[in-house]
Amino acid sequence: MKAQPKVQPPGSHFIDGEYVEDTAGTLIESLYPATGEVIARVHAATPAIVERAIAAAKRAQPEWAAMSPTARGRILKRAADIMRARNRELSELETLDTGKPIQETIVADPTSGADSFEFFGGVIATGMNGSYIPLGGDWAYTKRVPLGVCVGIGAWNYPQQIACWKGAPALAAGNAMVFKPSENTPLGALKIAEILHEAGLPKGLYNVIQGDRDTGPLLVNHSDVAKVSLTGSVPTGRKVAAAAAGNLKHVTMELGGKSPLIVFEDADIDSAIGGAMLGNFYSTGQVCSNGTRVFVQRDIKQEFLSRLKERTEKISIGDPMDEATQMGPMVSFDQREKVLSYIDKGKTEGATLLTGGGIPNNVSGEGYYIQPTVFADVTDEMTIAREEIFGPVMCVLDFEHEDEVIARANATEFGLSAGVFTADITRAHRVVDQLEAGTLWINTYNLCPVEMPFGGSKQSGFGRENSLAALDHYSELKTVYVGMAPVEAPY
Ligand code: NAD
Repeated sequence: MKAQPKVQPPGSHFIDGEYVEDTAGTLIESLYPATGEVIARVHAATPAIVERAIAAAKRAQPEWAAMSPTARGRILKRAADIMRARNRELSELETLDTGKPIQETIVADPTSGADSFEFFGGVIATGMNGSYIPLGGDWAYTKRVPLGVCVGIGAWNYPQQIACWKGAPALAAGNAMVFKPSENTPLGALKIAEILHEAGLPKGLYNVIQGDRDTGPLLVNHSDVAKVSLTGSVPTGRKVAAAAAGNLKHVTMELGGKSPLIVFEDADIDSAIGGAMLGNFYSTGQVCSNGTRVFVQRDIKQEFLSRLKERTEKISIGDPMDEATQMGPMVSFDQREKVLSYIDKGKTEGATLLTGGGIPNNVSGEGYYIQPTVFADVTDEMTIAREEIFGPVMCVLDFEHEDEVIARANATEFGLSAGVFTADITRAHRVVDQLEAGTLWINTYNLCPVEMPFGGSKQSGFGRENSLAALDHYSELKTVYVGMAPVEAPY
């Protein structure tokens, strides 16, 4: 392994424009997943820190909301420029935080965060426009107004991206944010806060506090918080939505999935295999929208499986800081244990292990490495076909007919994403029309540019991130009726 840069932040939290420490909070050790070494130590926010962050946000927000959208947007676009200029440094930090290979983080993490600041910084000039409603002599107009203090709570798979995907639309719309990253990946969001302030963001508008499942509720239950946006698992989503309902906060829920990816016999098979591999092995399988149930039409099953096996066994696993590495470790020891236990279930429940299934022996040290794994002959009732594994485990299921596969694809509580590979354009649109998911792909998989809404249906959540749609979730409509004639009262 290459020598690692020092990444200990000057304080655990970033509040009101500066780093803040309170060592009374529970110690959180940040481990580099490739070696298990401690790379930073932070403390969970105490109730006093939570109060301080929310108070700073509440104080700063009205003045920010009163600025012109163009002026707000200019600061966000400057932040995007700084992120791009520091892409290498931020990508290395993201790799240390998550264990994802630098080959990925350099193209997918700070850059997608920068896209978000650039996009929302640009569209906000018109994105909050209202409407004029003629009513005969009278008329009405609508305006979009910010919500106030918004809370963002992140998962550990895309720490910088999540911090930006929540922060950019919230700030663009005129809100303030308090963001809590996952306890597994505390570092990236602090850098985003630093960069926003360097770009000219007034103090108090983007605060980061550390913490875990005990800290989150302090934010979610706070009466000065108007909105909570969570990226996390379905069980956490249920708890957070229930707590937010206490005083009717706005909520966005970006939760888990068990998404179907359907490959018809006429598909470009190499493309479909590439899509299935990206949709199962990118980020060591730790992607919410992954197409983890790969339905392959029976006629092409053997060809699909043999080429998939060959390509999967060529994936290079190792030092995430090495540009040639294609797959790094999992984020934590616990997450790897969880994935290994699912692999055991796959074996005992009768799926065919096509490749992988264990810990690779070509990587030394204490890293949380795992082999990219493919199970074939998976059936709908197997645990590995029903539950979100959140690791590099692809389940291949066979099917015969279109109607059959649509029904089976939809037979899940989740509804985050879905994909279809076919050369028949009519079928492609017919099938996606019937699939129950929030984000769908035809002849590709997992691409999420900022211009396009992203989010789930069913138990995978509600609300949308990215695109103009995200602004609706960080603002509300105010309607004004304008009476132009004397009021005629019957009494
Ligand atoms: P998690 O649900 O364990 O934790 C998510 C966040 O919620 C963490 O910051 C955690 O500290 C916090 N939290 C936990 N309990 C809480 C509570 N009661 N109140 C408030 N906050 C609480 O999820 P994870 O293990 O960090 O991430 C993996 C999950 O996230 C997977 O299910 C994955 O599918 C999902 N995910 C979804 C998306 C999406 O956009 N839909 C993106 C990435 C990850």
